[in-house]
Amino acid sequence: MSDPTDDLAVLQAILDLSPDLIALSEFSGEVLYVNPAGRSLVGLDHLPDTDILTTDMFFTVRGLLVADEVEASLKTQGHWRGLSELRHHRTDVAIPVAVSAFVIESHDGIPGKIATIIRDRSAGKRRDKELQAVAATARQHAAEQQALAELSRLAVHADLAQLMSAAALAAATLLGVESAAVVHQAHAGDATLNVLAASRTLSTRASIPAGNHSMAGYALQHNIPVICPDITTEDRFDTATMESLEMRSGAAVPVPFASSEHWGALAVYGYEPRMYSADEMSFLAAVASVVTSALKRVELDRQLWLKSMHDALTSLPNRTLAYEFIDDALMRNHTERSHVALLLLDIDDFKIINDSLGHESGDRALVRFSERLTDAVGERGTVARLGGDEFLIMYQNIDGPDQAEDYARHIISKLSAPLRPGDGPIPMSVSIGIALSEPSMSRRDLIHRADLAMYRAKDSGDGGYALFDRDDLYDADRVRSLSIDLRNALAAGDLRLHYQPLIQISTGKIVAVEALARWNHPERGPIEPTEFVAVAERTGLATALGSWALRTACAQAVQWRTFSDITIRVNVSALQLRNSAFPDDVAAVLRETGLPPEALGLEITETVWVSDTARVSATLAALGAMGVALLLDDLGKGYGSIAYLDRYPTFECLKIDRSYIAELPGERAEAVVSAIVMLAIAFDVTVVGEGVENQAQYDALAAAGCHLAQGFHLGRPVDAERTTALLRQA
Ligand code: C2E
Ligand code: CA
Ligand code: CA
Repeated sequence: MSDPTDDLAVLQAILDLSPDLIALSEFSGEVLYVNPAGRSLVGLDHLPDTDILTTDMFFTVRGLLVADEVEASLKTQGHWRGLSELRHHRTDVAIPVAVSAFVIESHDGIPGKIATIIRDRSAGKRRDKELQAVAATARQHAAEQQALAELSRLAVHADLAQLMSAAALAAATLLGVESAAVVHQAHAGDATLNVLAASRTLSTRASIPAGNHSMAGYALQHNIPVICPDITTEDRFDTATMESLEMRSGAAVPVPFASSEHWGALAVYGYEPRMYSADEMSFLAAVASVVTSALKRVELDRQLWLKSMHDALTSLPNRTLAYEFIDDALMRNHTERSHVALLLLDIDDFKIINDSLGHESGDRALVRFSERLTDAVGERGTVARLGGDEFLIMYQNIDGPDQAEDYARHIISKLSAPLRPGDGPIPMSVSIGIALSEPSMSRRDLIHRADLAMYRAKDSGDGGYALFDRDDLYDADRVRSLSIDLRNALAAGDLRLHYQPLIQISTGKIVAVEALARWNHPERGPIEPTEFVAVAERTGLATALGSWALRTACAQAVQWRTFSDITIRVNVSALQLRNSAFPDDVAAVLRETGLPPEALGLEITETVWVSDTARVSATLAALGAMGVALLLDDLGKGYGSIAYLDRYPTFECLKIDRSYIAELPGERAEAVVSAIVMLAIAFDVTVVGEGVENQAQYDALAAAGCHLAQGFHLGRPVDAERTTALLRQA
């Protein structure tokens, strides 16, 4: 095989096509040949013919530093390898190179020549630089990630101010600028932005104009990131603020919050004009989004807090929050002449309502009630729901009891205003206990007083209000001990019934008697029926009291009916009507005593809640079907409605409350009474005027066309014996 390099054309091609510089020179330094790649590398299109070219002309000063070493090495070892630096002939740019030089011995003893192969390293250098840049970016990126991680941690745990400061600091530090700020526009349209956090030279006291009057305002208003490389060329917004702070450049990103609303901006400022890269802007955006997440977290916390402080059903402040309000108000209330007034409000008979309506409708009724209550109270007081059907209304700066009582009266009248048809059942009868603070009174005592007054308001029976007085402290104990004693009295048969006659006006004859319970307490003496009936209803004794009265009255009536054709009337508590077993109990009593149903009348005090409950109407219907007469008692006393007569055709009789009779004779009362009588006649029901205390009242009732009358004037309630005597006389 022949050596291809024997062919000179092959050697020439190698020299011509080599990408590396290949040169031949004398030991003297004179350059004899440079191949085309070499010539183009150093910017020599061709070798000048005339001038002698020496090797040192090819190198930079730095490149020549190795010259001595090269010469020595070539002389002693015949070759050298190392790094050096060429110089471009036209541009003087240094070209880093790798050099391999060796001596080519001549055969004939003439000193040899030096061949040099030089490779351009600048491509490699560039790559190094790129690699370094990449490494720097990676380091920057890592630092940014770390900063963001730290901020995110703060966003979860720290308070907002701390997070904002950290965000501003991170933005300034990682971008290497002078300062940064988190700004917030409290209300859309505000002229200035609040600086919530600032790093370094900026201060939170600085005020930054909104809108196009500042960089941050601009970013916020347009909801876009903004880069301002140099304020001298800025024409989108006013740079006066930046100028006054000696800032030349800046960038800002919006801090979004609550999506629709522009919350604020994160801005960085530099002393020097500079560009802000896409990477830097996305870092700022990331910091801004951490601030957003912290805002969301704080908002969520606030909502959770609000939730924990508010009643889920009605959204009113709950007991916890109400207590805070009271504590606050008591703390602020120092003077003797100004008071905190608490109105404790309880819906009458709500337990019954709720049990009979079912909890869902009960809940709906409560929600509607709370709306009505809030309306009735208005701006002046604070309404809270303590739980169940108990509400609290707090007023501050109250002059005295009169003012508080005015508020209570106002609430009661507003609540009892008739509803629009189709509103469904809403409780309208309430009891309110009022207590006024005294200097240095505790919240606990104040609430306790309102509570006691509330019980008295309930006891008074007609859904009113009561102002605390010192006797109430003793009354609370009274209810408790009366309840115990009443239970024992019922068991021991210590209660009695008295009977009051009802007179037929047209004939003057006794047609019925009403049974009224009497309790002569062994220590306390006679207890008012309204009081012990209320105690019974509040302490679970209503059914026991009611069935005792019914059984006793029916048994007594059977005896009277052996010589008289009177009927008997028994009062029934609203609580008994809610009991679905009630019609069966009545039937059992009739069966056992042998009283015919038509001889029994049940007097039902009209309360709002007699209406609209399915169970009550079923009970009323069942009683009606049995042939028992139903009477609507106390018409006009509380919230009254003759509409019941329409809704419950089972009522056969109604009693005009004695408050109307008391005003007889008199123009207004006469008008009311005759209106009721006319209506009653239209509905084909019997009308009773009760509480007739004199002949004039009796005559007025007679003139109005009233059917029956009852009252002290016609006969006081007396015991069974005396009633027997009365009936025998007739
Ligand atoms: P009520 O059903 O309206 O009974 C009529 C009340 O008016 C009775 O009071 C009676 O004594 C009184 N009264 C009758 N005529 C006159 C009069 O001319 N002038 C005045 N000022 N008062 C008159 P009493 O006996 O104190 O009963 C009060 C309330 O207690 C009754 O009002 C009734 O709601 C309730 N009550 C009495 N007994 C029972 C009972 O056995 N069961 C239930 N659930 N409630 C009862
Ligand atoms: Ca009655
Ligand atoms: Ca009555």
